[in-house]
Amino acid sequence: MIIRCWGARGSIPVSGRQYLRHGGNTTCLEIRTKDDEILIVDAGSGIRELGNFLLAKDRHTFTLLLTHAHWDHIMGFPFFKPIYSHKTNLTVWGCPFAQTSLKEMLSRTMAPPNFPVNFDAIRANISYQDMCIDSYKLGSMTITPIALSHPNQGMGYEFAEDGKRFVFLTDNELGHQHEGGA
Ligand SMILES: [Zn+2]
Repeated sequence: MIIRCWGARGSIPVSGRQYLRHGGNTTCLEIRTKDDEILIVDAGSGIRELGNFLLAKDRHTFTLLLTHAHWDHIMGFPFFKPIYSHKTNLTVWGCPFAQTSLKEMLSRTMAPPNFPVNFDAIRANISYQDMCIDSYKLGSMTITPIALSHPNQGMGYEFAEDGKRFVFLTDNELGHQHEGGA
């Protein structure tokens, strides 16, 4: 399992010398399985650079897993260049939480009058798997959701492969009791 962090911030992308250490982008992780399958966790502003990187490497098949619908975790989606290519195969996983569907959650980032490009300009083959399930399987990696204490719900995840485990628990508000939270 190889993990690259393309965005580590919450709330809003930032720029400036004081942010050089962790970068200025909002949440986006790239996780490669042992067999080099590509899993993307969240579509914060960091997904823009990841998309450019993947296109440069001629990679076109990805799975996107979402933790929740807050803006800083989906704002980069319209800037993920692979969605405008018919070569791209994207599978989106997640629990739709307070939304009607994952598609609805992502299409809102491009809804007029807030964005100049319409959602139907997307050329990628996207399949939406609205799944609130106990575990996901991507190749030899097992992904187990962990309920977050978060407004309108949300999921953290444990990624396990070959006896190694990585846990991503973002936006977990330990000091608050939220409905549905662990
Ligand atoms: Zn949040």
